[in-house]
Amino acid sequence: MAREPAIVVEGLVKRYGRFTALDGVSFSVERGSIYGFIGPNGAGKTTALRILATLMLPTEGRAWVAGADLLGSPRDVRRHIGYMPDFFGVYDDLTVWEYLEFYAQANGLPRDRWRRTIADLLELVDLGAKRGDYVEALSRGMKQRLGLARCLVHDPDVLLLDEPASGLDPRARVELREVLRELPRMGKTVLISSHILPELADVSTQVGILHGGRMVASGSVDEIQVQLGTSRVLEVRVLGDAENAARVLEGLPGVGGVDVAEGLVRASFTGGLDGQAAALRALVEAGIEVVSFNAAGGLEELFMALTEEETGE
Ligand code: ATP
Repeated sequence: MAREPAIVVEGLVKRYGRFTALDGVSFSVERGSIYGFIGPNGAGKTTALRILATLMLPTEGRAWVAGADLLGSPRDVRRHIGYMPDFFGVYDDLTVWEYLEFYAQANGLPRDRWRRTIADLLELVDLGAKRGDYVEALSRGMKQRLGLARCLVHDPDVLLLDEPASGLDPRARVELREVLRELPRMGKTVLISSHILPELADVSTQVGILHGGRMVASGSVDEIQVQLGTSRVLEVRVLGDAENAARVLEGLPGVGGVDVAEGLVRASFTGGLDGQAAALRALVEAGIEVVSFNAAGGLEELFMALTEEETGE
């Protein structure tokens, strides 16, 4: 029982009148992982998260969150989740500390645990220095981190976060990502949505790409890229003659147009992890001194390929 996935979704359908917002969505999320739920506007992310948060019933399908049946035991589900909606209001005239106290009380946390819990949460989201500031006066990034702290007050197992990074500047996104990375270490499972794949690719163990109410791909970003054959950029920095490294790479499977600039060899690459390992081995066996080796990027291309295919654009 203990190792069953934290979230299991089977054939979820949601119709708003005659419009089908979710069309048979299935996926599962392992405990202690971060699952990136990606899709363009209107894909159905908010609908799916609201259903999992027990705020709305599905038209068809079933789901289990932290082992509890969404339809049969919604109260149990609620005890185990922290839900952060895409828009949430904050109360005027409350300080950061008072705001979290309010939620501690609302969640029935015993009063003698408020102080420790709130202090720990503020440290986690790096708002300790702002404890006496009015919530209204916080930057958007700080408000989002406070929203995350608020979801954690009752120590839920599963966090459902709807586009928490939307509207944040790059620095605030990085700060939020740092907090997110802490959550699996605390044993939490995170389902987080975004319409930007690169934003979640780094932080997620797995991603699911939703488009037009259907899951068009699911797995690790690497697996999806290999499945679809979309290309990434292989970047190799070498000591000595980079042209020589380029010649070795040129003949290998999955390697396309190779360029050399200032000791850096760049090639388009469609292989998987085994292909990367083979390329690195070929370079080393050719006596080339490799300083760094990395396959990256291609995420926008991947996202476009997946979300255009379905509409036939
Ligand atoms: P966004 O990134 O824009 O928030 P999303 O992926 O979260 O998009 P949803 O908000 O789940 O998408 O909406 C999915 C589709 O369902 C959209 O086409 C939306 O217009 C429609 N929809 C959502 N809520 C309702 C509703 N209450 N009544 C009718 N249609 C709705």
